[in-house]
Amino acid sequence: MPPCPAGKLWTGIRVCPKTSAGEREVLNCTAPVGFGQALKAGITLMARSDNFVPGYVKLHRSGELTRRADEAWERLSGCRMCPRRCGADRLGGKTGVCRTGAKARVSSFGPHFGEEDVLVGTGGSGTIFFSSCNLLCCFCQNYEISHFPGEGREVGPEELARIMLTLQGYGCHNINFVTPSHVVPQILRSLIPAVEMGLRVPLVYNSSGYDEVETLRLLDGVFDIYMPDFKFWDPEVADELCGAPDYPDAAREALKEMHRQVGPLETGAEDVAYRGLLVRHLVMPDGLASTAEIAKFLAEEISPDTFVNVMAQYRPRGRAHTRQGLNRGITPEEYTEALEAVRRAGLRRAQAQ
Ligand code: SF4
Repeated sequence: MPPCPAGKLWTGIRVCPKTSAGEREVLNCTAPVGFGQALKAGITLMARSDNFVPGYVKLHRSGELTRRADEAWERLSGCRMCPRRCGADRLGGKTGVCRTGAKARVSSFGPHFGEEDVLVGTGGSGTIFFSSCNLLCCFCQNYEISHFPGEGREVGPEELARIMLTLQGYGCHNINFVTPSHVVPQILRSLIPAVEMGLRVPLVYNSSGYDEVETLRLLDGVFDIYMPDFKFWDPEVADELCGAPDYPDAAREALKEMHRQVGPLETGAEDVAYRGLLVRHLVMPDGLASTAEIAKFLAEEISPDTFVNVMAQYRPRGRAHTRQGLNRGITPEEYTEALEAVRRAGLRRAQAQ
């Protein structure tokens, strides 16, 4: 293709029409490049032009990323990173509810093709699963990773940065930090070497929704995509299942702050998201999640354009068998009812499974 007169670069993948196998390459394109043009050339566009610079790169250039990382790190000495507000001196070897000290532990990482289509595209979502959790639901669908403190491997900032670069190198569309709430300072620190090594893809904050607004403010302009759960509406249910009666309040405030920072979900080439809020809601047996109330809140207090994934995959895991009603998956009727509640609330971008 001729070199781009506007000096733009596009990351593209040339796809075989028969097998869909593709080979990643950076292309000099004419500007503005159209999808029809790309299609004729056998190219599927993967990302926006290199005019798109992630917020964390700009923050690094101004020195703000380092300032935020330092501030977050200091907060670990009397940890109040999440609504548990344990006050544990994690820099001095103590731990709180999340049982995580000064170093993050990574359970696994890799391109993930099971996330939402808007994150997966053709290259996958570059997931990094952190061990442990600050919420600790008794039915956790990743119980072994979240509840066993010794799970995974401790990583320092350089190693975590290299993991991100590896995922970007695989062609993942984003770096998807799974259960990041208790390791925000460690993530911020690792972004500094990651940016210096060339990290450029959007970052996804994939949390339970049990997040502290003060901590989220440190992430303003760092994360491009927020993907919180909103699990329960009823404080008694949250107390019983997670020991966190303040979860509904905390999640409401956290989601408002996330939306303030990034707005509704926006997608670019190939319908892959590059910015915005994506809420996950797991439908629970016996209406334990109060789907109707959560949907009403999202539509009325966040936005009717909130992208919501209404998830049907609840399975009894961990200690779910200890509570009556949790020891089964949801019925088709329960899921249909949940979808109907979402529709009634006026949410226009709900994704069903
Ligand atoms: S991040 Fe961990 S130690 Fe800190 S307040 Fe939350 S649960 Fe407690």
